[in-house]
Amino acid sequence: AENLWRHTVNQLDPYISGQAAKDAEKQAALKEVSRLATNENPLGPSPKAVAAMQQAVLDSHFYPDLTSLELRKKLGGLHGIDPENYVTGNGADNIITLVIASFVNPGDEVVYCTPTFSEYHKNTLLVGGTPVEIQTTRDHKFDLEAILEAINDKTKLVIICNPNNPTGTIVADYELRAFFSRLPKHVVAVLDEAYGEFISIPNYSTGVEFMKEGLPVITIRTFSKSYGLAGMRVGYAFAKDEFIRPLQAVREPFACNRVAEAGAIAALDDEEHKQNVLRSNKKEMEKLIKEFRSLGYSVEETHTNFLFIDMKQDTNKLAGELFSQGFIIRPCAVWGFPTFARISIGTSEQNDRLIQALKEIR
Ligand code: PMP
Repeated sequence: AENLWRHTVNQLDPYISGQAAKDAEKQAALKEVSRLATNENPLGPSPKAVAAMQQAVLDSHFYPDLTSLELRKKLGGLHGIDPENYVTGNGADNIITLVIASFVNPGDEVVYCTPTFSEYHKNTLLVGGTPVEIQTTRDHKFDLEAILEAINDKTKLVIICNPNNPTGTIVADYELRAFFSRLPKHVVAVLDEAYGEFISIPNYSTGVEFMKEGLPVITIRTFSKSYGLAGMRVGYAFAKDEFIRPLQAVREPFACNRVAEAGAIAALDDEEHKQNVLRSNKKEMEKLIKEFRSLGYSVEETHTNFLFIDMKQDTNKLAGELFSQGFIIRPCAVWGFPTFARISIGTSEQNDRLIQALKEIR
């Protein structure tokens, strides 16, 4: 039956593997679970977003707005960008799929660094493109010089994950600006700012500024992280006309559902909740770094809601032990870092319990 499939599908791993099903079963059996493997927001969404979503549920029999006009207007107002230059989707995952499907022809090359978010690889393979993966620098940063050197006539997209998942690193904004302005005309840059709200450097330029400067960038963002709406699936992109048009053509109608759109709009109105989230994240990150270092691990501050930690041991094994105690963390062997783990920053109480568990395992 597999020869009925589009040939590129054979290169992809299905999400519902036997292992994932087993893990889900084991997880269901645990009394209490601290989900520290998927970089969700442990404080949850804004209560204002919850109220707006509860209200929106009552209109579930109506389709949402075709293109999320109200959300695009709200975002446009906040960023100072025309609402026509946005596209919304069912999470940033959906937007990544959309960008790659809209720009990459079979045989085109897509250049980015590794380790990074897995979806760039998968979507590039699906459309018959060639992923060109360049190792991050020694301090786990995107290597912009090496990406520029890898560009050739076949290159269509370069993808910059900033802050990067799983390393939590960022590159300097002036380096990004210089990089974007040096791109040849046949190359489009994608800037994945899924964790952008966690960057705490004052006046750090993001995709909003780069777009206003006319740089050739498509910026991707999400409500899954700092806004705590991962379960609602809202992501979006913004870019100049000639880059956003293909996305608007390829997108599915109604990709952002009615409840999700209402939640996202209300979340943008609750600055206080967002500041609480960022404050708690920073405080808890500092605490975890101190404790992890005293356990002998190597870890640097990140610009995200997770840490990339060299735990100086086999983290696949450690993750198994922690799992039985109700902690789910992300071992990094799949990225080629078998002694590293990516651990999301939880609530104060979850973090304290995690530290206690690690001390006992040791
Ligand atoms: N980009 C990056 C870098 C991510 O880490 C994630 C989520 N893990 C996404 C995109 C997708 O986010 P969403 O929940 O909006 O699909």
